[in-house]
Amino acid sequence: MKNNSISICTNCVMDSTDSKIIFDKDGICDHCNTFYNKILPNWHTDEKGRKVLNQIIDKIKKEGKGKNFNCILGISGGIDSSFLTYVVKEELGLNPLIFHVDAGWNSQIAVNNIERLVDGLSLDLYTEVINWEEIKDLQLAFFKSGVPHIDVPQDHAFFANMYKFASKHKIKYILTGGNYSTECVRNPIEWMYYQSDSIQLKDIHKKFGQKPLKSYPVTNILWHKVYLPYIKGIKLIRPLDYIPYNKEDAMQLLVDKFGWQKYPQKHFESRFTKFYESYWLPKRFGFDTRKVQYSSLILTEQMTRDEAIKELKEPAYDPETIHQDFEYVANKLDISTEELQLYMDSPKKNYKDYKSQDFIYRIGAKLLKLVGIERGGKR
Ligand SMILES: [Zn+2]
Repeated sequence: MKNNSISICTNCVMDSTDSKIIFDKDGICDHCNTFYNKILPNWHTDEKGRKVLNQIIDKIKKEGKGKNFNCILGISGGIDSSFLTYVVKEELGLNPLIFHVDAGWNSQIAVNNIERLVDGLSLDLYTEVINWEEIKDLQLAFFKSGVPHIDVPQDHAFFANMYKFASKHKIKYILTGGNYSTECVRNPIEWMYYQSDSIQLKDIHKKFGQKPLKSYPVTNILWHKVYLPYIKGIKLIRPLDYIPYNKEDAMQLLVDKFGWQKYPQKHFESRFTKFYESYWLPKRFGFDTRKVQYSSLILTEQMTRDEAIKELKEPAYDPETIHQDFEYVANKLDISTEELQLYMDSPKKNYKDYKSQDFIYRIGAKLLKLVGIERGGKR
């Protein structure tokens, strides 16, 4: 199917704005084929999955006996981590420490949602606040670098902090809201390069940053993917992969039980991410992350392809308020709107223009697929 020379998958809404997309003879893309051939046959949300999950939960409970909490759970205020919090406490009977990283861009809805859940479920919340001057400088460095993945400073801080906290306090289990149900299609690497690549982060900071990163947490792939799990025994668990998870139903449940508030779009709990995914990325690069999100929902039968196509006809940002958002982001970063516009119009770069650990990720992904630990993954 051709549309202004953009080819779109006949089954989902991924298209050739993802330049590495491969269509088979029926016009079905490789994201869909990976889902049907690799993920779906190994993904069990029925009794089989529940049995595996129960074994994991029993282990966590046993090892956490006598401790104040038996695991940590990273929360953003978005639906995945919010629903996970509910499931873990109410249905699985764990007592997690709720871990939140405040990178300075929380929306008011996110703050409310986290508070309501933590209070409603009588949980303990630990909030790590990132040094604002440092992350602001790093975010500006990413704007100046010209790459698409300017949300790395936030994402990297979220994960690095969680791993560091777990390691420091000897907590063996980190629970995350990562899941196949809403994320079985992943953002292509060309759209969003690996947030955990510390070599790339440091190179961009070295070239465009102005302040040293003193307290900003930097992790690296070998530390958290090899040393922590295999030497220190710290495991990352995705409980939502073992149970039925329907996004709409989950949101309604949280609304009814806790007065949780819905977001217009995934990842809009951060004001920066909202600006970045709805405006910056599609406008500057033509990458619309809704295609990835909707395609995941189409594949897991939570949305129809027609609904997705209809929604994609509208811009992801609100044309009425985008000027205010643009101004808000510029003000917050202490630059003029003219300077922000300059970055919007600057030559486009990609992750290959800077130092990276790309080869380690590629080898790692091959290994993980070979032993069956990873089914989908980025590409
Ligand atoms: Zn497809």
